[in-house]
Amino acid sequence: MIEQAQRILKKYYGYSEFRKGQDEIIENILKGNDTFCIMPTGGGKSICYQIPALMMDGITIVISPLISLMKDQVDALHSLGIPSTFINSSIPANQVEARINGAFNGIYKIVYIAPERLESLSFSYLLNRLPISMIAIDEAHCVSQWGHDFRPSYLSITTFINQMERRPVVTAFTATATEEVKKDVVKNLSLKAANTYVLGFDRENLHFAVERGVNKLAYVKDYLNTHKSDSGIIYAATRKEVDRLFAHLLKMGFSVGKYHAGLGDTERKSTQDDFLFDNVNVIIATNAFGMGIDKSNVRFVIHYNTPKNMESYYQEAGRAGRDGARAECILLFAAGDLHIQKFLIEQTLLDEARKANEYKKLQIMADYCHTNQCLRKFILSYFGDRDIVSQCNNCSACNDDRELVDISIDAQKIFSCIVRMGERFGINLVANVLKGSNIKKIRQFGFEALSTYGLMKDMTIVEITDLINMLIAEDYLKITEGKFPTVKLKQKAIAVLKGREKIMHKVARKPVEVKTDPGLFDILKALRKNISENSGLPPYVIFHDKTLHEMCKFFPQDKKSMLSISGVGENKFEKYGEAFIDAVKKYVLENNIKTPRQETEIINPKKDKTPTHLITYELYKQSMSIDEMCNERNLKPKTIQDHLVKCFQEGFEIDWDRFIPENTEDLILKAINETGAARLKPIKDILPEEIEYMAIKAVICKHF
Ligand code: ADP
Ligand code: MG
Ligand code: ZN
Repeated sequence: MIEQAQRILKKYYGYSEFRKGQDEIIENILKGNDTFCIMPTGGGKSICYQIPALMMDGITIVISPLISLMKDQVDALHSLGIPSTFINSSIPANQVEARINGAFNGIYKIVYIAPERLESLSFSYLLNRLPISMIAIDEAHCVSQWGHDFRPSYLSITTFINQMERRPVVTAFTATATEEVKKDVVKNLSLKAANTYVLGFDRENLHFAVERGVNKLAYVKDYLNTHKSDSGIIYAATRKEVDRLFAHLLKMGFSVGKYHAGLGDTERKSTQDDFLFDNVNVIIATNAFGMGIDKSNVRFVIHYNTPKNMESYYQEAGRAGRDGARAECILLFAAGDLHIQKFLIEQTLLDEARKANEYKKLQIMADYCHTNQCLRKFILSYFGDRDIVSQCNNCSACNDDRELVDISIDAQKIFSCIVRMGERFGINLVANVLKGSNIKKIRQFGFEALSTYGLMKDMTIVEITDLINMLIAEDYLKITEGKFPTVKLKQKAIAVLKGREKIMHKVARKPVEVKTDPGLFDILKALRKNISENSGLPPYVIFHDKTLHEMCKFFPQDKKSMLSISGVGENKFEKYGEAFIDAVKKYVLENNIKTPRQETEIINPKKDKTPTHLITYELYKQSMSIDEMCNERNLKPKTIQDHLVKCFQEGFEIDWDRFIPENTEDLILKAINETGAARLKPIKDILPEEIEYMAIKAVICKHF
């Protein structure tokens, strides 16, 4: 059974191996057991129900919460050659019936439907005509009121299942699994003695980072400058912040779009499409954005503000790197963010108990921003993942090798200034006094007479403000709530002010420049974009970034090696294989690249020894004669000649005229016509003696 699943994985998806857990889950489903699967975003849940769906007799119904996501998934399935369709409110009634009939007649194997559809009796009636083997419930946490995306219509799934004549296998999938949510899923979806698979929450390819006390706008600007061709999402807490940041970045000339609930449907849709199709690189959005986004090549997610809890953070950050390639999740912390979130909690209509619960979760989020321990460990232990190491070496805490700088003196200046101003003013005015600004408000209060006035005049206002923010984040200062927050000293600051304690601070790093290779990857990306425009499919549905990267590593130049690239299945090869092979070939030729062409070397990439005939080709490219190549390589002329012929057969360009002496070509051609091209010796025999084997080989390659 699992062998067949493996074959499907290779044939349709182009992957050679199941990821951790996938095979067990598929096997369990095929045995007819209800199955509950908790796997992180990007872990590969879809395959867990799609492959059994292909192997089972009847139809599989997939319940999926978002319309846009559904279309995306069905598009992706089509590009793999898997017969599927979807039904939701965007489909007119006559189409609905046509699609159901299509499934009835075996045209579709998988039917995606929106949960709301099940609330309609007439629709349930239609659906009941189908031989349903499995109901797969994606984003199953939507059934729980404790989850972050509760959908009342998910509750009608059980009603639907219960009225069915024959109960199908029921499977549920989610990336969220706090204890409450887990219980709700099993109970509310009436999973029968379901086998539960919890596959850990770790996303190894994601690098987590928290940046405290940085100038956020400058940071983002630097980051975008050093990641120019990457797709990314920047989340901000409010619509206003999104608008502001968008305007800034647009003005600076970055390729950005914005998305929040305050924009019209059409605008949101077109922004989303621009992002999916790589027309804009970066989306600046509130948390309204993302549920419907399955884009796999999101290379970074930056949180411009701290989100409301760890669940939201991990889900939003988790939209990076679904393709398994390295991606970055960066959270820019400022104390003010927590006030925004508190404000938002206050605005909700939750009862007091729920509100208290939200505050508790926000505090944990704040702890994440302040922790000095491994960020991954923090996240994983929050989600109750047990087998965790103490250091991941792939987060900003683990990799923090910045120098500790003693900033006690600067901190003392700030503290004493705040005290002298009576702890009654906000960050901005404090910074201006320290800077020694000549503004009305300072004169009005007579602050220019303070001994701290102009004490930090060598720093910019922004630098001073950042420092104050950092001192808030590190708990030396507190900021009051309300419309006009004021800064006050906390207990910890007093010891510093009195010189009893020091404050060490790690200096904020600049984002590291990523070398973008302008070579093959960009060419393949452009080709993908081109195909995308002609086919109307988003680029990542054609091939994932990771697949392109692999092509750049192994330079596949024939069908066999192209099919050995992860993510190239048979259907995709039929559609796009040749185009990509051509692009790779051209690039290899033009750039004189030595490629590990033999299959063994593609299978075993560590061994990247250049094949011997390609070494000869290198010399050929340097315009050496056969004799010179023989000397250089210490090989016989015949071997060198055979190398060149082999290169030629493999598609490398060779200018054969270089080896055909003047005025001999016609003579040789005539001889070949007499004897045939199969053997060389008879040709050589009837030609003048001074004509060498190499010339004959050259004429054959050139003409036959
Ligand atoms: P999830 O729904 O769990 O967030 P998806 O099902 O969308 O994740 O899968 C995420 C990505 O991982 C997809 O691009 C998918 O093609 C890829 N993937 C899934 N299984 C494998 C596998 N066995 N080998 C390689 N890639 C895989
Ligand atoms: Mg999914
Ligand atoms: Zn770590």
